Amino acid sequence: MNILVTGGAGYIGSHTVRALAASKDFTPVVYDNLSTGHEASVPDNVQLITGDIHDVPFLKHILAEHEIDGVIHFAASSLVGESMTDPAKYYFNNVEGTLHLLIAMHETGVDHIVFSSTAAVYGEPQKTPIEEDFPTVPTNVYGRTKLMIENMMKDFTMAYGMDYVALRYFNAAGAIQDGSIGEDHNPETHLIPLILKTAQGVRDHISIFGTDYPTPDGTCLRDYIHVLDLADAHVLAMQYLVDGGESIVFNLGSEAGFSVREIIEKAKKITGIDFKVEEEARRAGDPAVLIASSTKCKKVLGWKPQHSNTEEIIKTAWNWHKEHPYGFGI
Ligand code: UDP
Repeated sequence: MNILVTGGAGYIGSHTVRALAASKDFTPVVYDNLSTGHEASVPDNVQLITGDIHDVPFLKHILAEHEIDGVIHFAASSLVGESMTDPAKYYFNNVEGTLHLLIAMHETGVDHIVFSSTAAVYGEPQKTPIEEDFPTVPTNVYGRTKLMIENMMKDFTMAYGMDYVALRYFNAAGAIQDGSIGEDHNPETHLIPLILKTAQGVRDHISIFGTDYPTPDGTCLRDYIHVLDLADAHVLAMQYLVDGGESIVFNLGSEAGFSVREIIEKAKKITGIDFKVEEEARRAGDPAVLIASSTKCKKVLGWKPQHSNTEEIIKTAWNWHKEHPYGFGI
């Protein structure tokens, strides 16, 4: 079966493309406008189509020409801070872009979509671990756009018989073991890549944003999930839809929380480098604790995260960063 992977040249997309290519049932075709994705992250044996999700006629042509059976949709803008200062970009790229994709799918009879959603749809949770039926009250524009897309897909399901799986990721991290691809955002805002860039000397220090949270060591707790486990979940989700599964939402997390200080200490141990750490004020909009319940995904899809311990996450991310201090730039 042929699967179109929008945003397949991005971080999670490029790992998922490899998981699809390794599966016996699926052949991935990457569709990416390369605005933030990297051509070098697409394997040689996978076709890359440079195109935009806003371009409905071209999308329809590609869906038909490649006899696409389902779409895994990553293409989106994904910086929380930027979403607050430039909401127009997020409503345009994420909400309107996905609407165009859904229209193209509907008009060509492609019914299955696996969607890259986020824990940001929950906002500040009242308790943890977070289950899929908890209130969705996003505290930033990025999370709001992802929730709007989930609702759009729900309406397309009801009216047109499409079906979707929305995967709400917690903190995606790590890289493929051989260090050939990994996280390369510009600007980078995520904790683990920033720590590793600091260890490499590409940055002067790592800042801890807030040490007065109501947590054991005063810093935020997050649920880090290895990108290879995320990739597996996408393949299982597409298989579930192809097998006739109903539209559904899953959290993807390791179900364990680690503090910012714990991650920094672990990174010092793994890299063997004692880099500079500075304590700073809280970053606006950061909830104290975000930990997933992923019971539903394990039960329904039979998903078994195998790489999501902090040791493997940091080691594999370090493999990538060590070899590529400037990402795909060198
Ligand atoms: N964080 C930090 N320093 C940094 C970047 C992040 O202390 O330079 C903290 C951030 O406040 C949060 C955690 O690390 O508590 C994870 O942040 P990240 O941006 O990686 O993911 P988020 O949880 O915001 O999606």
